[in-house]
Amino acid sequence: MMNKIRILMLEDSPEDAELVRNELEKTNVDFDIELTDNMYDFSKALDEFKPQIILSDYLIPNFSGLAGLEIAREKLPDVPYIFVSGHIGEDRAIEALRKGATDYVLKDRMTKLVPIIMRVLKDVGELNSRKLAEESLRQYEESYGVLFENNLAGIFNSTLEGKVFRCNHACVEILGYDSTEDLLSVPLPELYYNKQAGDVFISSVIENKTVKDIEVQLTKKNGDKIWALANIGVVHDSASDQMCIQGIIFDITERKIALEEIIKAKEKAEEADRMKSDFLAHVSHEIRTPLNVILSYHNMLRDELSSDIKEENDYMFNAIELAGRRLVRTIDLILNMSVIENGKMDLMLMKTNLYNVLKNMHEELYKFAEAKGLKLNLINKVAEPIVTTDLYIIEQVFQNLIENAVKYTNRGEIDVTIYRNISEEVCVDIKDAGIGITPEYITKIFQPFSQEETGYTRKYEGLGLGLALVKKYLDILGYKITVVSQKGKGSIFTVRFNNSK
Ligand code: ADP
Repeated sequence: MMNKIRILMLEDSPEDAELVRNELEKTNVDFDIELTDNMYDFSKALDEFKPQIILSDYLIPNFSGLAGLEIAREKLPDVPYIFVSGHIGEDRAIEALRKGATDYVLKDRMTKLVPIIMRVLKDVGELNSRKLAEESLRQYEESYGVLFENNLAGIFNSTLEGKVFRCNHACVEILGYDSTEDLLSVPLPELYYNKQAGDVFISSVIENKTVKDIEVQLTKKNGDKIWALANIGVVHDSASDQMCIQGIIFDITERKIALEEIIKAKEKAEEADRMKSDFLAHVSHEIRTPLNVILSYHNMLRDELSSDIKEENDYMFNAIELAGRRLVRTIDLILNMSVIENGKMDLMLMKTNLYNVLKNMHEELYKFAEAKGLKLNLINKVAEPIVTTDLYIIEQVFQNLIENAVKYTNRGEIDVTIYRNISEEVCVDIKDAGIGITPEYITKIFQPFSQEETGYTRKYEGLGLGLALVKKYLDILGYKITVVSQKGKGSIFTVRFNNSK
């Protein structure tokens, strides 16, 4: 429902008021009319009734239409004030209009009243919408101004020829100028570290209309070079009503320097890594070669002298062999780890029968177990335990796990079992009856150089690299390893060939 239009009348004659009322009732518009005939009531009604339109007689006893107009203009300057009078002559009418009346209607031409009210209300509506639009434009410009001036990003406008005509405080700061005026005196291309590049860049902005997230080198007032991230476009400037270049720049010099340093540090680290790998390869060659000579001559000597060696001296030959093997193992571990860490691992995947791999290993390792009084058993529960793997890698994995089982077990048996789990995946358990692992250490067991026992009083030799290597190798192949253990009872390491085709 439409709101009623509030009309305040200043009229001392009830008959005349009735006349107006009758006229208004002829329309299909609802009016809410308040009638006053003195200054006090009229003034109060302006405050409380808040009319949208005022109809006023010219002559009122002890008051006057013109006095009413004056009060109304003061209190409600935008509300139309229409004189409805039988006595208003031309001179008075002109004076009334000059003093701010909106219009006048003669009482003997009452039919004109409603059209005049309608026209006046329409004018007021248009005026109000214009005022609203102007107000919201003003608010927008005000908040844009605050945003422009307080922005952390540098913002500037220049003509298409490169004359900067507006810039904010951040822009002045970033480019190290003393004031806005100081910066405005410099043509845009000259702010580029390389002026020619600046010219080219500006032409490309004008051609493409917008350039986003471009890194540019600018020059500060003192000649220093800075890096800026720029978003630049051609826009319409309403103040000057012309197309112009608008740019937003962020100073990214520190970020750029930090990035360059990170890249340099990375290159240095990569170079150091390369040198480390070369060094390790070199050193291992230098150790392996004489060591192989020692080990092979040791074997030859042992065979040659076998009949003459006294049984009590046999342990010396065993010690030389064990120490030699330990050295070879250590070098292999370090070398393999460095190959993995440099990402230089070349995989040769092929279908491999795990039983064959483990059988060969068993033949080689059971004598070491026996030397410690342990029994090493190989149990196969799978008809054809075929998995896809790299042979060298999988040998390294099981050699480490079985050697650890032997190393960390003092009595009892070690079972290496091939089986299928409930998901039909081929698995291998290496189960020992050794010293076991504490729950605290088990979470770190696959970290390089970690060992449960540390310090010179350690009972077991080793570098703490074997299991880290096992884990990395299995990660590369995409297979899993888990461990369950009980201190003093033993451990089970399980390798699971999940998803093996
Ligand atoms: P290393 O044996 O050279 O110390 P590993 O990486 O092979 O290095 O093993 C890390 C640590 O894990 C060992 O020092 C040991 O504390 C523990 N560990 C490995 N295998 C076993 C096992 N079968 N039983 C008990 N502890 C083990």
